[in-house]
Amino acid sequence: MEAMLSKHIIMLPFMAQGHLIPFLELAHKILDHNPNFTITIANTPLNINYLGSAIANRPSRIHLKSLSFNSSDHGLPPNSENTDGLSSSQIVTLLHASTALEAPFRRFISDVVSSEGSPRVCIISDVFMGWANGIAKSFGIFHYTFTTCGAYGTAAYCSIWLNFPHRNLVDGGSPEEFVVPGFPESCRFTVMELNQYVRAADAKDERFFQTQISSSLESNGWLCNTVEEVETLGLEVLRNYVKLPVWCIGPLIPSKMLKKNLGSDTSSGITAQRSGKQPGIQLKKCIEWLDSHPTGSVLYISFGSQNTISETQMMELAKGLEESEKPFIWVIRPPIGFDLKGDFRPEWLPSGFEDRIGKQGLMVYEWAPQLEILCHQSTGAFLSHCGWNSVTESLSQGVPLIGWPLAGEQAYNAKMLVEEMGVCVVLTRWVDSRITKEEVSKVINVVLDKIEGGKGEDMRKKAIQLGELIRGSVEINRSSYIAMNDFLTTVLSGFKSVMV
Ligand code: UDP
Repeated sequence: MEAMLSKHIIMLPFMAQGHLIPFLELAHKILDHNPNFTITIANTPLNINYLGSAIANRPSRIHLKSLSFNSSDHGLPPNSENTDGLSSSQIVTLLHASTALEAPFRRFISDVVSSEGSPRVCIISDVFMGWANGIAKSFGIFHYTFTTCGAYGTAAYCSIWLNFPHRNLVDGGSPEEFVVPGFPESCRFTVMELNQYVRAADAKDERFFQTQISSSLESNGWLCNTVEEVETLGLEVLRNYVKLPVWCIGPLIPSKMLKKNLGSDTSSGITAQRSGKQPGIQLKKCIEWLDSHPTGSVLYISFGSQNTISETQMMELAKGLEESEKPFIWVIRPPIGFDLKGDFRPEWLPSGFEDRIGKQGLMVYEWAPQLEILCHQSTGAFLSHCGWNSVTESLSQGVPLIGWPLAGEQAYNAKMLVEEMGVCVVLTRWVDSRITKEEVSKVINVVLDKIEGGKGEDMRKKAIQLGELIRGSVEINRSSYIAMNDFLTTVLSGFKSVMV
């Protein structure tokens, strides 16, 4: 490796769009702050291809390193190198399988450290890849943990996996409330808010998550994709828990998105630039469609990059949308149990649905230009699974949410959005919940209604205030900007202290 790689940050994201995307944004953001770093992102071959196409659209000094990985060795379908298209049990298998990257990653670090002649190298790994901390220690280099989630969600995730505070309640299936260690007494959780991995965890899962979290707690500091003044309670709990520096360097979204009022000028293809996907036709279609609707009138519906809902839920959601009579853009993919990348069958929707909705709705199959949709002034609310990227993207634009958490820490995010921020109404939780068209229609009307003094208006006002804080945080000498400078100063002094 050439001498230019002398201040080298090596990143190791977990294999999922919702992790790869913020890691890539983090890399761009570090280089924006200090172009003298070199950054390498290491991952499996297919994810490296994907990142390669994403950075091809945006000049940068980001290097990519393929680590060998064969999904079939782990009981996964061939070429399953990220969570796209995997069922929730396969996602847990992929999490376990990610530890197979340890050997190739160790070889890579060994090559870098020896060829660069001095240990001016550090690692930033995903909170799911805590094992990277052991590798860093064995080469005498610094290791930082990056949680792509928010502070509240990360704190709840860590505490629940490490303490299982609900365990004595789960057997009886009790909906009772319990306190999560680290959270205040007044902030009660319920079993219904726990994700299916925690509820169904076996000893192997428990060991996996506890090991990754415990190792991450031994790193030199944590980076969190959030904004200091936006997540007050979450950060207080996380800091008490982690007992390491926590730098809030979010929101990790393209800087173009942080300029308010892009209006209909969203033709830049920022989703494509960031994700490597090229939804050019979709983008044009969505923007033209949004342009034809009044400000704040449209509901955007998406369950993120890897989730879907059941056939019955899809049917009720469609009927509820129709009944609400509100305009919507729905990113739709096959329901649970079917190939998520396969063709969409008309029988999954009410008969004649697409003809009937006419101008009311726009269906986008599989993948939409989400950033551009959320930036558009016509978008008034987001029915979301509350994945953290979707949450920050939505709030950064002052768009309130309707929550339908499906996996991971999403229900903790939704809980915070409702209880701490007042910008969300939860429609339902998880893939096995029952919803009715009446509930769907009612909640849409609450959130999109323009009634003065009503709940919708209150949520919108709060979301707009949060949006201002989020967008302002990245400006010079504001919180996220300062946190990034502090972090990079720590990285540089870490290089020095390792060298003496
Ligand atoms: N996304 C997108 N188009 C889609 C679905 C998702 O651009 O049709 C992007 C979205 O903008 C976000 C990411 O994919 O940046 C999804 O991340 P999130 O944390 O919300 O959910 P996950 O996919 O990890 O469950």
